[in-house]
Amino acid sequence: MNERELKRRIAARTECVGTCIACLPECGVHRTKNGRRETLGQLLERVRACRACENELPLGPRPVLRATASARLLIVGQAPGTKVHETGIPWNDPSGDRLRQWMNVERDTFYDESRVAIIPAGLCYPGRYARGGDLPPRRECAQLWLEALRARLPNIEFTLLCGQYAQKLYLGQSGKKSLTETVRAWREYFPGYLPLPHPSFRNLRWIKKNPWFEKEVLPALRNRVRRVL
Ligand code: SF4
Repeated sequence: MNERELKRRIAARTECVGTCIACLPECGVHRTKNGRRETLGQLLERVRACRACENELPLGPRPVLRATASARLLIVGQAPGTKVHETGIPWNDPSGDRLRQWMNVERDTFYDESRVAIIPAGLCYPGRYARGGDLPPRRECAQLWLEALRARLPNIEFTLLCGQYAQKLYLGQSGKKSLTETVRAWREYFPGYLPLPHPSFRNLRWIKKNPWFEKEVLPALRNRVRRVL
């Protein structure tokens, strides 16, 4: 969907009767047909059926996210890779293994939806650049769904922002010029948020170059996760 079409849909939101995506599904704005406020379950159904940028996605839409209203920890990553797209399980890859190691949690805890919500910056696999590397998360996801999802997670105490896209989305102007500076300034966002590098193997060199990350940030992450969960 191009920018113009997206704006048209957003502008048309007053016409929405709750059965389409032609609205910004803000908390309290989008209502179901019977006029009741949409529940998280109903919203997730609509998100999972989203086809907003179908024509731009090489493998087609498959939004990958998990959330229940009782979740206390929110993990925000970039966008699914091909393995996650295939399985439909977020962080089901070596980056996920590294993140669990950073957090010091087992898979059972990590995938316990009653405690952990996982909503990446982009919900579908976005494709790859011709020269290699995944494309950035689709902006449509945040424009269409993020506020509404976040508004239905009232118990989140701690949000992990993995990578620059997650940080831009949640920290906005309060983020620093570079990912390194933002992560280095983690105390400014803590204990509500913690910016992290993406736990991809591509960042192993970054981790080596910035030894303060393992020394200061990971112990704070593990303590906070233990307390919150
Ligand atoms: S990438 Fe986001 S906006 Fe596009 S189809 Fe998937 S869920 Fe919808």
